[in-house]
Amino acid sequence: MVDIAIIGAGLSGLTLAHKLKGVGDVRVYEQADRCGGRMVSVNVEDYAFDYGAQFFKVKTAGFADFIKPMIDRGVIAPWHARFVEFEEHHITWRRQWDDQVPNYVCVPGMGALAEALAQEVSVQLNTQVHRIEKERTWALYDQDGGLITEADWVVSTLPAANALRLLPACFAHRAAMDRIEMQACFSLMLGFKNPLDLDFDAALVRGADISWISVNSSKPGRDSGYSLLVHATNRWADCHMNDQASEIMAYLCNQTTTVLSQTVAHADHMSLHRWPYANVAKHKQQQIYMDPCAQLAACGDWCIQGRIEAAYESAALLGLEIEKVMH
Ligand SMILES: Cc1cc2nc3c(=O)[nH]c(=O)nc-3n(C[C@H](O)[C@H](O)[C@H](O)COP(=O)(O)OP(=O)(O)OC[C@H]3O[C@@H](n4cnc5c(N)ncnc54)[C@H](O)[C@@H]3O)c2cc1C
Repeated sequence: MVDIAIIGAGLSGLTLAHKLKGVGDVRVYEQADRCGGRMVSVNVEDYAFDYGAQFFKVKTAGFADFIKPMIDRGVIAPWHARFVEFEEHHITWRRQWDDQVPNYVCVPGMGALAEALAQEVSVQLNTQVHRIEKERTWALYDQDGGLITEADWVVSTLPAANALRLLPACFAHRAAMDRIEMQACFSLMLGFKNPLDLDFDAALVRGADISWISVNSSKPGRDSGYSLLVHATNRWADCHMNDQASEIMAYLCNQTTTVLSQTVAHADHMSLHRWPYANVAKHKQQQIYMDPCAQLAACGDWCIQGRIEAAYESAALLGLEIEKVMH
C-alpha cells in the first residue's frame, strides 16, 4: 500500500485521513498534544472557552453526510443562541437561532469533533514536522534532525504560510499559495463568578475593534462557570500582533465595555490567545493544491474561506483527487 503522511490534525487533516482510509496507509502527524487545530477549547479555573472557531453552519450535502454520525452521537449539537448584531454599542438586529438553519457547536467543546474523528485514524501527536526531503521516498524530519517517517505522498494541511515554509522548493504551487493572505485574530477570554446581565448569547459587532462577543457558557453541554469570549477584528489584530499581552487585553476589555455599555474589567479570569493565521476571506483560487508528479499536496480552509466547512470541503476534494491519481 502507498504510504501517505498528512501533516496537521485539524479538521482538514482528519477529514483527509478519513477519506483516504483504504486508499493508502495513512498517518497524521500533529505538533500539538491534541487534535483540532483552530477548533479548540480550554478549561481554565472554573471556566471553559472555545478560543478558536465559535460555531459553524452546514451548506453542502457532503459535509452534512460527514457530520451526521457525530450529531447522532451528540458530539455536535445546535446552539439555540439569542443572536444580536451591534453597531458600535447599539443592538440593531435580534434573532433566535433555531433548528431551521442550525448553527452547530461541538460538545462539550469545539475540540470534540476532532477528538472523535481521530479515534478512527492513525494520529501521532507531539510531532512537529520541520523538514521534508526527497530521498528514496519523502522523508519527514523533526527539528532535531530526527527521522519521523518516510512516505510516498506528503500532504500539508497547515495554514498557507506555514505550509510554504515546509513544502520543498520543487512543489508546483508555491507561487499560487504565496498569494493567499491570512488574517490575524486575538481571542480574549473572560470568566465571571457572577453572571453579567446580558440579553443575548452571541453577538456580531460592527463599528468597533472587536468583531464578536459570545457567552461561551451558553453553548450546549458547557458545564462550567459564566464565560465570555471576545474576538478582535482581523484588521486590528493584524496591526497589533506583536504588542504586549497586557496592553492588548486592556484595550479589548475596554472595547467590550464600550460595546456592552457595562464594564467587564472586574472579570475573575482574563487571558488572551494570539492567532497569527486565523482566517482568510472568501476567494476564488484553487480549492486544493496537488502536485501528482512530486506526490505532494496542500489543502485547508484557506483554499476556500476561513470556515470549518471550507476545511472539510478542501480536504474532501483532495481525497477524491488523490484517489483518482492512485487508480
Ligand atoms: C479565532 C478564530 C475564530 C474562528 N471562528 C470560526 C467560526 O466561528 N466558524 C467557522 O466556521 N470557522 C471559524 N474559524 C476558522 C476555523 O477554525 C478553521 O477554518 C478550521 O478550523 C481550519 O481547519 P484546518 O484543519 O484547515 O486548519 P488548522 O485547524 O489550523 O489545522 C492545522 C493543524 O496543523 C498543525 N501543525 C501546524 N504546523 C505543524 C507542523 N509543522 N507539524 C505538525 N503539525 C503542524 C496545527 O497544530 C493544527 O492542528 C475561526 C478561526 C479562528 C482562529
